[in-house]
Amino acid sequence: MSQNQILFERAQRVIPGGVNSPVRAFRAVGGTPRFITRGEGAYIFDADGKRYVDYIGSWGPMILGHGHPAVLDAVMRAAQEGFSFGAPTEREIELAEEILKLVPSMEQVRLVSSGTEATMSAIRLARGATGRSKFIKFEGCYHGHTDALLVKAGSGLATFGHPTSAGVPEEVAQHTLVLEFNHLAQLEEAFALHGKSLACVIIEPIAGNMNFVRTSTPFMKRLRELCTEHGALLVMDEVMTGFRVGLHSAQGLYAQLIPGFKPDISVFGKVIGGGMPLAAFGASRDIMKHLAPLGGVYQAGTLSGNPVATACGLATLREIQKPGFFDALAHKTRRLVDGLAGVAKDNGVPFSVDAEGGMFGFFLMSELPQNYQTVMTTDKERFNRFFHGMLDEGVYLAPALYEAGFVSAAHSEADLDATLEAARKALR
Ligand code: PLP
Repeated sequence: MSQNQILFERAQRVIPGGVNSPVRAFRAVGGTPRFITRGEGAYIFDADGKRYVDYIGSWGPMILGHGHPAVLDAVMRAAQEGFSFGAPTEREIELAEEILKLVPSMEQVRLVSSGTEATMSAIRLARGATGRSKFIKFEGCYHGHTDALLVKAGSGLATFGHPTSAGVPEEVAQHTLVLEFNHLAQLEEAFALHGKSLACVIIEPIAGNMNFVRTSTPFMKRLRELCTEHGALLVMDEVMTGFRVGLHSAQGLYAQLIPGFKPDISVFGKVIGGGMPLAAFGASRDIMKHLAPLGGVYQAGTLSGNPVATACGLATLREIQKPGFFDALAHKTRRLVDGLAGVAKDNGVPFSVDAEGGMFGFFLMSELPQNYQTVMTTDKERFNRFFHGMLDEGVYLAPALYEAGFVSAAHSEADLDATLEAARKALR
């Protein structure tokens, strides 16, 4: 038995399913999850000592690769000063200032410890600021595991959603309206029916939880207009895309396509913590004034703004602002996805790819999907064979077809070449 199998059996005795987050269990692709012992640059190593080129990067945060010297140094120094104080520190201000400098739609930001906490708080803030209860989310977008966000579409636009998880009462889902992603007519209809009672609309601008599906520009433009017309807040969940698809995040990209575009509330996570538990949500001063201790919307956290996590996030954000960082990262990512598309074409496999900055997606279908239903028509068996073929060749992709991939600054040209060679073997 391999060390990975031994550890997985041991883990399952003491941890439900052997993992602390379900997708790690490899349920979608089958086989034994790899237990990781360490990471170094673009690589991770498993309990059997096997090395993998890492395209998960902890599901997004590790944009600099593992163990970047400047980040490591900042974390070590912060840890020596103290792990947690439960009192304000100057570094929290520095991180807030750094984030706000790069995201002009926000004037203030609140730091929390996970993306789930940040989206949950953003929804509460939107409800508190508008005095309304209902909100819209889109099918296939994931915003963490808050009760009101674990909801699937009801039967028609007049009915609200149903929980997708046991343990979430129907009543909690009754304010969540779930719409099809990129479906303009449905959006119009939903606003016509419920516009004046909507607190907000929450969206992943590039949905990384259905692999990689962009919000179409006309859809985003109309969504912004409708929110403004009806007094609903536009909440942009950039937990995955934030500081990952570009220095100014996905909202920076949409601002180039739609003059004057900006969300009302933005949510960040992953990259802003550089691999430590850190996330944030922010908005204009006018919206943020509703938050405790200034206003009546309660939100708090023992470890919020943690000194070691903020040091890690700050060092990471400083590195990604160095000249040419995103150009180089985007170039590598593009080279990877174009290379994969080329290999697929040579093997007659239907394939489509998209990428932005250091985030990418590929689909075993000839055209890029626009919504969740289409993503789910992917040939799952073929994806699983490809995934395991790549894993055997030392390439660690997301163990599910509906997850995005991530390239880091540490990936070398040789790593990309090796990945394409592995894909050639895996697709054959
Ligand atoms: N929002 C998006 C877009 C995400 O991708 C995720 C996690 O993958 C979350 C929210 C939840 O973040 P966390 O896992 O840190 O709670």
